[in-house]
Amino acid sequence: MNTNIRHPWEMHCHSHASDGVLSPQAVYDRAKDAGVSNLVLTDHDTAAGYRALRDQGELTDDLRLWPGAELSSLWLGRNIHIVGIGMDVDSEAWLGVEQRYIKAREQRFERLLFVLRRAGLDMDESAIRAEAGDALPGRPHIARFLVSTGQAKDSAQAFKRWLGTGKVGDVKQGWPALEQAVADIRDCGGKAVLAHPHRYKLTWRKLDQLIDDFQDAGGEAIEVCCPAMPSQMRERLVNSCCERDLLIGGGSDFHQPDTPWARLGWYPQWPSQGKRLVDALVA
Ligand code: AMP
Ligand code: MN
Ligand code: MN
Ligand code: MN
Repeated sequence: MNTNIRHPWEMHCHSHASDGVLSPQAVYDRAKDAGVSNLVLTDHDTAAGYRALRDQGELTDDLRLWPGAELSSLWLGRNIHIVGIGMDVDSEAWLGVEQRYIKAREQRFERLLFVLRRAGLDMDESAIRAEAGDALPGRPHIARFLVSTGQAKDSAQAFKRWLGTGKVGDVKQGWPALEQAVADIRDCGGKAVLAHPHRYKLTWRKLDQLIDDFQDAGGEAIEVCCPAMPSQMRERLVNSCCERDLLIGGGSDFHQPDTPWARLGWYPQWPSQGKRLVDALVA
């Protein structure tokens, strides 16, 4: 069984600059209250929330804020997420990366509207954009719209029926290849971390192949300490990291309050073997 404990580092979480529910400041305040001392804000495909918080937020010396993002990518037709930590998110190179994702997300949103309407759903584009607010539209915003209009019972059902892997709304076109996402992070001075490997429903063989390709591309760490990862997989990944000299990462993937399975700053304890990503970040 998984026992999550409270950590001083949170390296994977979302604000309403992407599909999280809280403002970047509210995420920061919540992290402070949870006793976190280092917070990496990893919104999907953008560091806009980080920049706003850094420039206009109320920050304290007790809680260090780090730049980050979780990039969408494609690997063998699958949607794989790569967390980047420590990029220079004011650089021209990074702002160019964000621009590419803005385009990709807009194009995908158009396609999502089309396929979901064709599937018989009532899609009110402006209501969904309002749901997204300042964020680029993503599937969770559509899920919330479907719930608010009574077309789905809850977000989980919206994903199960329409938006999740293999369903009509599983539109992946437009995301860059995994190699490109890793290069984008590294070129901007960040460390690339393979996000939540348990979420891809891969066989062990395919997972090994993914890790090989990720490391060949320049990836440096794997999220091993994730709240919902089966412990058998965690043990396997710890061994993989030790064998391949990859760093061991983790984080809650917090998106909103009231999700006891993803509390900010809570995830399984670090394994006794292996090199930790947190140590490499402060080195
Ligand atoms: P997108 O960035 O538009 O591709 O949407 C992916 C996001 O949807 C993930 O980051 C999660 O926040 C959310 N998500 C994925 N699968 C599910 C699910 N089965 N139930 C609820 N939310 C999900
Ligand atoms: Mn998300
Ligand atoms: Mn993710
Ligand atoms: Mn995430």
